[in-house]
Amino acid sequence: MLNCKEADDPVCTHTMCDEIEEELLANAMKHGIEIHGYTEETSKEEVSKILDHFRNPIKSS
Ligand SMILES: [Zn+2]
Repeated sequence: MLNCKEADDPVCTHTMCDEIEEELLANAMKHGIEIHGYTEETSKEEVSKILDHFRNPIKSS
């Protein structure tokens, strides 16, 4: 599960949930492009940032 709050976006509360990680990433990228106006490149960066956040057990906040 991914949500925009985890990606430092306090405005958008969109949550994406998918059992297949590849589907989830595709949805997250599509959402970033459509809703946040990201390009394909920046959306990819944002998604990988979110993934790093989720894979890192240490919370920085
Ligand atoms: Zn969003």
